[in-house]
Amino acid sequence: MKDLDFEAMRKKMVEEQLIPRGISEKRVLESFNKVPRHEFVPKELWQSAYNDYPLPIGGGQTISQPYMVALMTESLKLKGDERILEVGTGSGYQAAILAKLAKEVYSIERFQDLADTAKKALDSLGYKNVKIKVGDGTLGWEEFAPYDGIIVTAGAPGIPESLVNQLKDNGRLVIPIGGSGFGQVMTIVEKTGHAIRTSEICGCMFVPLIGKEGWDR
Ligand code: SAH
Repeated sequence: MKDLDFEAMRKKMVEEQLIPRGISEKRVLESFNKVPRHEFVPKELWQSAYNDYPLPIGGGQTISQPYMVALMTESLKLKGDERILEVGTGSGYQAAILAKLAKEVYSIERFQDLADTAKKALDSLGYKNVKIKVGDGTLGWEEFAPYDGIIVTAGAPGIPESLVNQLKDNGRLVIPIGGSGFGQVMTIVEKTGHAIRTSEICGCMFVPLIGKEGWDR
């Protein structure tokens, strides 16, 4: 394989995939320019690591398309001092992006092998503010709750109540919601007191969220 210029690939990704589609927050764009996405996919896929689509990461799971990661990240409106929960660690890429933009990131993955690989990648790149655990993320991570923001990177049948409960007042939950099979609608849930307000931002296609407050299988 010829040498790949990852920095140039990242710049191209930001300029051709993110900016033209409306991702505008400076800190978000900066994080996509910095985080080495290729380090989160198998080596055979390094040359396509910055392309405009999701990639397989093993076990039938995927690392999301860069634009989708950016859109979900921007929806959290991070300033830098937040505590964030991610459900669906997968490759660890989204967690790495969040680690640059928030203070603490807690991420849950149902598969041990994916969690291990993600942890290795994050450790070797020096991210110190990400904690990963294996478990059912539909139940949240009570120990560190409440969270300023929660991001679910798998498709859910509805809004998991446990996640809403673990959200701070004025916190935001970003989650793809939809019926079985045919994709989902990216949904933002804002919590104010005991009330929630939802808004739908776009159609999307994620692997299923499997767990007690998700799909059965
Ligand atoms: N955020 C990831 C993409 C993850 S794909 C990235 O940046 O690469 C969705 C992941 O959610 C898969 O790895 C899948 O195993 C995981 N998942 C599905 N249901 C889950 C649950 N209930 N709890 C934790 N992880 C779950």
